[in-house]
Parts: sequence; C-alpha cells; structure tokens
Amino acid sequence: MDAFLADAAAAWLAELKPTLERYLIFTVAIWLALWVVLRPLLAARKIRDATPPARQLVTEALFSLRTMVIFATAGVVTWYMHRAGLYPLTPLATSWGAPWLAVSIVVGVVALDAWFYWTHRLMHDPRLFRRFHRRHHRSNNPSPFTAYSFDIGEALVLFGYVVVLPAVFPMHRDAMQWVMLYQIVTNTLLHSGYELMPARRDGRPMLDFIVTTTHHDLHHAQAGWNYAAWFTWWDRVCGTEHPEYLARYAEKAWRPFGKPALQAAE
Ligand SMILES: [Zn+2]
Ligand SMILES: [Zn+2]
Repeated sequence: MDAFLADAAAAWLAELKPTLERYLIFTVAIWLALWVVLRPLLAARKIRDATPPARQLVTEALFSLRTMVIFATAGVVTWYMHRAGLYPLTPLATSWGAPWLAVSIVVGVVALDAWFYWTHRLMHDPRLFRRFHRRHHRSNNPSPFTAYSFDIGEALVLFGYVVVLPAVFPMHRDAMQWVMLYQIVTNTLLHSGYELMPARRDGRPMLDFIVTTTHHDLHHAQAGWNYAAWFTWWDRVCGTEHPEYLARYAEKAWRPFGKPALQAAE
C-alpha cells in the first residue's frame, strides 16, 4: 500500500510540474507582453475601456492553481489506465510514428472544440450553471488569468476529455501534451482583452473559422451567445453566434489592407 501511495504521489508530481510550467510560462508571458510591455502600442486593440482590478487577477490565479491540481490528477488517472492496458489504441497509434502524431494533434484540437462547445452549452443550463460554471463568469471583464479560473465541476469536465479521447480514438502517446499546450496558449489569448487577429479587407477576421478574443469576450459580457472556444463552426451551425460579433470585431481589429473604399470615405 505504501509503495502504491509513493508511486501515485510521484506520478502526480510528475504531472503537476509540466501543467504548472505551461501555465506559468504562457499565461504570465502573455499577461506581461500584452498588459505591460506592449500596452501603449496596443491601445487601439483593447476591447473594453475598463481594466479588471488586480484583486480579480489574484483571485483568478488562485482558482487556476486549484484547476491545475485537478488536471494533474487527470494525468495520473490516465497514466494508471495506460498501465492497466485500458488504452489499447495508444501503443498502436504510437507505432505509426510522426505523421500520426500530427494527425492526433489536429483531431485532438477539433475534438476538444466539440467537447467544449457542447459541455459549455450544457453548463449554461440554469440547473448546472451555479455548480459548474459560475466561477468562470464571475470575471465579466476577463484577464489572461481567467483562462483556468474554473469551478471544480468545470475542471472535471475538461478532465473528462483527457480521459475519454484516448479510449475512443487512436491518439499518439505524445499528442495530448501538444493539444494541452495549444489549449492553454489560445485559451489565455481569448481572455487577454486585446483583439490580435488581423482583419481582411472586408473587415472579417483573416482566419474566420478561428474564435477571436472579441468572440469570447462577448460571451463573458452577454452569456447566451458564442459558446465555442476554438473554432466558429458550432456556433454558426447552431445559430448561437452573437448577432453583433463581426461588427464588434471590425471595430477593434487591425486592418493591414486598409478599409474598403466605401468605409474609408465615411
Ligand atoms: Zn460560459
Ligand atoms: Zn471564458
């Protein structure tokens, strides 16, 4: 029993370390870059006039720490499931080499987007909202630290994705850590308060299928719209994209190709 506990503790610490490192490196770096160093240069890209108080950022960071403890536990659960042979697809997928690693990362991100869209919509049901998702929406005006500011229930929902996906899809052994890296970087940018996606000449986002910071900021301002966090597909197919999204986006976005002739004359 002692050996099992020592083994589990070592596995847990081995999982917590990279989760914390990813968070500290990327979340703090994005906060420092956008909110401190580049702040004067990005004034026109700032989505809201108000800036959240320091108190909010500290609270969010503390809840984020709790979320990472839960994520590390998810890592230990999957590690034991691997050892118990409950993920028979993984060794097979890993034997397919680097090309399958790339496929696994792409499938992992697309699956995460779908998982998040539908569980997020569910968490907005009044019967679930208080227990699962209220903490995240306490940040009406988000900061980079809002990214992991979750109730325990919401952290467990993401935990579920990490545990379930390798059971139903042949994921390369190394793919999930890349999916999680993509997840934390883009998640932090979505809450950064600055619109960084350049616009096309017609004012729409250059990569219109990607969820922009304005898109997710609108979700925090007016829940009931914009449930997706990575791709705009589900909101568009299901009619849940905020009707003013593109207009709000165009107000703040950088236009490297200038404004269309009609608008430039205004
Ligand atoms: Zn929400
Ligand atoms: Zn959010």
